[in-house]
This record gives sequence, structure tokens and C-alpha cells, in this order.
Amino acid sequence: MANRVVIVTGGSRGIGRAVALACAARGDQVLIGYASNSAAADDTCAAIAAAGGIASAVRCDLADERDVLALFKAADQLGPLGALVNNAGIVAPTSRLEQMSAQRLERMFAVNVIGSMLCAREAVRRMSTRHGGAGGVIVNISSVAAKLGSPNTYIDYAASKGAIDSFTIGLGHEVAAEGIRVVAVRPGLIDTDIHASGGDPDRARRLATHVPMQRVGTVTEIANAVVWLLSDQASYITSTIIDVSGGR
Ligand code: NAP
Repeated sequence: MANRVVIVTGGSRGIGRAVALACAARGDQVLIGYASNSAAADDTCAAIAAAGGIASAVRCDLADERDVLALFKAADQLGPLGALVNNAGIVAPTSRLEQMSAQRLERMFAVNVIGSMLCAREAVRRMSTRHGGAGGVIVNISSVAAKLGSPNTYIDYAASKGAIDSFTIGLGHEVAAEGIRVVAVRPGLIDTDIHASGGDPDRARRLATHVPMQRVGTVTEIANAVVWLLSDQASYITSTIIDVSGGR
């Protein structure tokens, strides 16, 4: 499947960046979506190019359907879409439910759930054999928070990832006979900027002792699982969610 077009939302930083680099290293043509940090997106594209790969980036706020449509239109310019990695996601500051505003909840679900579902919709419209496509793979990035619920931290985020898990199972069954596999990875504590964006930069390292393996995970360890799921090595796997969490 060399040179297939792969979209990685949130591909500019953190886990998405590692996935983009790994896909490009395997010969995929990568289109990165990012929210606002164009310098990080440019840096990731440059790193891929320096390694001999092909990548471009488009600004795309997943909460805006017009941005999602523009992202997929940009992908259409590159060639037939082969895969989507629904990676972009947000957290919000640590809080109990009593303190959560409607705006916070709406934003959380708009980005993490609706944005991912809109991207998947666009991918299915292009990849499904029902629509003349050649099939493909959708990998959703969930979180072990979906199982833990994240009490006193961010149950809104955990619930949004629970929605991603249900969505993965349902869509996987819906398009299984149309050449598309839909799978998810549930990362545990991974050392990225997302914890700082929730106001707790040291969160992953502080909680490392709660992980059975006694350490945080790396973005490469998540990317390894994603790349395998994207590959033909995982050709009989769909509607499946894999924990990559050191046992957490
Ligand atoms: P990160 O380091 O904060 O990177 C987030 C990426 O998503 C960036 O590329 C960012 O773009 C993009 N993004 C943010 N808001 C967006 C929006 N509204 N629309 C489109 N793109 C947006 O995050 P990460 O830790 O790599 O997390 C990646 C995924 O893994 C998320 O779904 C997260 O929930 C999940 N996850 C992470 C952990 C962990 O411990 N890190 C654990 C479990 C699950 P800009 O650069 O422009 O801001």
C-alpha cells in the first residue's frame, strides 16, 4: 500500500506527529491537520521531508465542519484516500462536573466526538466500495480514560472517549463489508503537551507510579500500534479497540 494518502488529524504535535512520521517512513503520503500552531505543523512536515517522506499540512479546527470539508478537499488533490487517523483531541482544566460550563462541554464534544465523526464520514464517502472507493482504514485515538472515567479530573473528556469507543464498534460493523476497517487505540499516560493544555504539565510523570509498568508511555509506542493497525498485518481486525497503556 505504498504512497496511499493518509490523513492524520492533530498530526503536528505529540502522538499525531509520531504517527505522521511513522506513516511517512512506510511510504504513505501524509496530510496533517492542525488547529492553530502552524510552526509545529511546518516543523513536522520538514522532519518528514528530511527523512525522504512526503507530507503537507492544512489548518483544520475539527469543531468547524467547513474546516473538515476543506481538509478532505486538500487530500483529494493528493490522490485517493487510503486511511484516516482520527487523532486530534483536547482536554480542559481539571474540574468536577459541578464546575463545568455548557460551553466547555459543547467544545469537548464538538472537537473530540463530532469532529472525529465528521472526518470518518468524509473518509467513508471516499474509501467505501459502496461509493466506488478502494477501501481503507480508520484508526480512532481513544483513551483509557474511557474505561476509568477520570473522576475529579475531566469526566467530560473521558465520556467523549467513551463515545469514540462506541463509534468505533458501530462504524466498524457498518462498513465492514465495504472494504473499510475501523479500529481504535486507547493510550494510557503518554508524555505530550496535552497535560499542560489541561493546566497540569507534570500529570503524566506524577501518575506514572499508578501504571502497572511504572512508567509513562512514549508517542512512538502509540505510533507503533497505529501503524500496525493501518497495515495489512491487521487485515482481519475491525471494530476492535487496543489498549496501549502499560497495563493501566
Ligand atoms: P497534543 O500533544 O496536545 O497535540 C494535539 C494535536 O491536536 C495538535 O496537533 C493540535 O494542533 C491538534 N488539535 C488540538 N485541538 C484541535 C482542534 N480543535 N482541531 C484540530 N486539531 C486540534 O495531544 P496528544 O497528547 O498527542 O493527544 C493526541 C490524542 O491522543 C488525543 O485524542 C488525546 O485525547 C489522545 N490521548 C492522549 C494521551 C496522553 O497522555 N497524551 C492519553 C490518552 C489519549 P495545534 O498544534 O495546532 O494545537
